[in-house]
Amino acid sequence: MIPGPFNYHRPASVADAVKLLADLGEEARPLAGGHSLVPMMKLRLATPEHLIDLHGIAGLRGIDRAGNQVVIGAMTTQHDLLASEEIARSVPILHETALLIADPQVRYRGTIGGNVANGDPGNDMPALMMTLGASYRLEGNSGTREVAAVDFYQGAYFTALEPGELLTAISIPVPAEGHGYAYEKLKRKVGDYATAAAAVVLTMAGGKVATCQIGLTNLAETPLLAADAAKAVIGTSLDQGALKNAAAAAEAIMTPAADARGPVEYRKHVGGIMVMRALQRAAERAR
Ligand SMILES: Cc1cc2nc3c(=O)[nH]c(=O)nc-3n(C[C@H](O)[C@H](O)[C@H](O)COP(=O)(O)OP(=O)(O)OC[C@H]3O[C@@H](n4cnc5c(N)ncnc54)[C@H](O)[C@@H]3O)c2cc1C
Repeated sequence: MIPGPFNYHRPASVADAVKLLADLGEEARPLAGGHSLVPMMKLRLATPEHLIDLHGIAGLRGIDRAGNQVVIGAMTTQHDLLASEEIARSVPILHETALLIADPQVRYRGTIGGNVANGDPGNDMPALMMTLGASYRLEGNSGTREVAAVDFYQGAYFTALEPGELLTAISIPVPAEGHGYAYEKLKRKVGDYATAAAAVVLTMAGGKVATCQIGLTNLAETPLLAADAAKAVIGTSLDQGALKNAAAAAEAIMTPAADARGPVEYRKHVGGIMVMRALQRAAERAR
């Protein structure tokens, strides 16, 4: 329950943080809210020799609208997202998802950057970011690059982040006016990670689904974009047949682990149900 020894650094700029990461090498880790990293350190599953605390870098926290994009600094907390009128107005599914993460204590400290950079299949934001077509700004000693959320996740705790790189911001294209959305999450109790969860963003035209994106949380080693499931509902009025086809297509790509949240078949089954519920609720909200 007690972490191993580590050195603590508190840079005041992204440039200083990136320099520290480069100088200190693989034994250095960024520290954001600490609500994933510190428990791992207490269990000795992570033993970094250096923690680079990002809280001293003022420019990393905040929410801005830039044209058709909402740009969120990596150190913006889940609580900041919930308090933001811009998020509630422009990307309401992000508000809905943040509210389903843990409890107020965790949400006050936990950051969106830490959530998406962590690479834990149980984190809720990654599948949502894929659903929304978001991209991540990564800054390192050799410059800045933009990586789409769909290309970021490579395996459990493996991401496109190169050693020495920092994720500094997340850009989300604002979904179409009148879009419908829902994040459905099955969990064993309040504050738990998802047994299975699905994010849906869609538009309707003339009572039929015109566009649709579906993301899945904790149903594989990485978050998933369920493209065939989305295709199965486009052009339909979301009748029972279309919903079942979408659930079946989504279940076909799920490879969850059997763990304390249930055996594989159960988690796939409830994953399909989350997809159907999210589609129905999103359609009800679409204008
Ligand atoms: C009781 C409890 C319940 C929880 N339930 C949920 C849940 O239901 N859903 C959910 O999604 N999460 C859940 N969490 C996790 C929580 O949301 C974390 O806050 C989040 O996963 C990580 O964000 P953080 O800011 O705390 O990051 P940290 O723990 O500080 O960092 C996580 C990892 O990301 C790296 N990192 C952090 N920031 C950056 C950056 N800017 N650039 C590069 N690397 C970075 C760190 O080095 C570390 O490896 C729960 C946590 C607790 C304690």
